[in-house]
Amino acid sequence: MVIRRAGLAICWIALLGLPPAFAEEVATCPRAGTLGVSRTVEIDTTGGPGFGMEHYKAYDFLQDKEVVLTFDDGPQKYTTEAVLKALNDECVKGTFFSIGKMALGYPEIIREVAKAGNTVGTHTWSHKALAKLKSFDDAKDEIERGVSGVHRAVGGAVAPFFRFPTLVDTPEAVAYLGKRNIAIFSTDIDSFDFKPQTADHLVKSVMQKLDKRGKGIILMHDIHKTTAKAVPMLLAELKAKGYKIVHMTAKGQVTTLAEYDQAIEKEAKGLPQVGAERPVSSIVKTVGGTPPTSEASSAGGEPEGLPSAPTPDAASAAPPVPSVPSFPVAPKSSEPSAAPATPGKQSAVEAVPATITASKSADSKPVPSPAPASAAQASPAPSPVVSVAAVDSPVKTVGGSHATISETPASSPVSTVDVASAAHATQPPKSISEKLKETWKFWFGE
Ligand SMILES: [Zn+2]
Repeated sequence: MVIRRAGLAICWIALLGLPPAFAEEVATCPRAGTLGVSRTVEIDTTGGPGFGMEHYKAYDFLQDKEVVLTFDDGPQKYTTEAVLKALNDECVKGTFFSIGKMALGYPEIIREVAKAGNTVGTHTWSHKALAKLKSFDDAKDEIERGVSGVHRAVGGAVAPFFRFPTLVDTPEAVAYLGKRNIAIFSTDIDSFDFKPQTADHLVKSVMQKLDKRGKGIILMHDIHKTTAKAVPMLLAELKAKGYKIVHMTAKGQVTTLAEYDQAIEKEAKGLPQVGAERPVSSIVKTVGGTPPTSEASSAGGEPEGLPSAPTPDAASAAPPVPSVPSFPVAPKSSEPSAAPATPGKQSAVEAVPATITASKSADSKPVPSPAPASAAQASPAPSPVVSVAAVDSPVKTVGGSHATISETPASSPVSTVDVASAAHATQPPKSISEKLKETWKFWFGE
C-alpha cells in the first residue's frame, strides 16, 4: 500500500514535471508590479531578414511605446549576471548577441541567460570587423565559429539571429546569412554604453533618444559595469513612462555546420559536452592509491573545465584564448571587464590588461562601411537578405496584444507569440609588446 502511494506520488510528480523549487520560480513571472513582457514576437528568419532601422528598414514591427532590449558581446562574469538579475526582477526578457569565445569562456552564464527565457543569438567568434577581413572565407569562419561556439556553450536552442560587429555588414556576408536563414539585427537606438559615463547619464541619454523616437530596438552591451548598473534604472524609467517590452523569439533554431563544430572543439577543450555536465571527478573516483592532483582539486564539485571566476576587480585577466588579437585591449577605459580564462587552463595564459575590446565594442560605432560594403546602409534598397524576406514577411504576433498596425506584410517575419512574458588558430601566445602594437593599430590604425 505504502509502495503504491509512493508510486502514485512519483507519477504525479512526473506528470506535473516540476520540482517544487522550479515551480515556484516559474510562478514568480509574470508578477504584479513588474514591467513584464507585453508582447512576444516570433520571427521567421527564412531568407535572413534584416531588422533595426539604423541599417535595415524593411521590417518595422514595433508599435509606439514598444521597446526591444538587446545586449551584445557577452557573456561576462558579474556584468551579464547583473543584467540578467535586473531583467528577471522585472520579469522582462531580452536578446543576447553572444560572442563565441565569450560563450565558451562562461558557458554557465550564457546557459542561465537562455534558461531564463531570453533569446540568444550570435555575434561572431571573436568580434572581428568582417568588412576588414581579407577574404569572405575569413568572414564566414568568424560567423560560423561564432554560431558553433555559442551553440556549444548554450547546449540548447540558439536563435538564427546575428548582429555584425561594429554594425558594419558586407554584401557577401549579408547574402551568406540569407542563405543560412539567419536574420540580421542592427539597432534603432544605440546606447553608446561603451563610452565612459555614469549609469545615470547612460539612462538619461537612452530615454531621450527613446522619447524622441517613441519606440525601438535598444543596443547595449552586457560586458560593461556601467550598463549592468544602468539596466535596473532603465527598466524603472521605462515602467514609469509607460513603455512596453517586446520579446523577440525565433521560429526555428540556428543550425551549426559540422566542420565548424569540429573547428571549435580545440577551443572548447575541457568544457563538458552537452548533456555530460558532470565533472569527471564525480563519475570516476580514485579509491585506492594516490589520487591525481586534478582529481583532488576538482573534488569541490566545480565542473572541470569551466573557467574559474575572476575577482570582480580583476585588473587583468586572461582573454578566452591564448591568442588575443581579436580583442585588443582598450587603451583607456573605465570598464574593468574581465575576460574569461581559457577553460581549464587559466594560468597557462598570459595575463593581459582587462578591458577586452569587446568593450570597445565597436558595435556602437555607426561607422558607415566603406563604399560597397554597406548597400543596405547607403540606400533603402534592401540588401539581398531583406529582399528575400520581403516576399513572405517574417514577423508575426503569436500572443499578447497584437500590434494594431499591419504586422508587416501579410505573413511577416515577426509574429507575436504570447503575452505577459514571453582565431584564433593556435598561434603561440603573443608578447605584451606585440599586443600593445595590435591594440594601437586597432584603435588608431597603422
Ligand atoms: Zn559587439
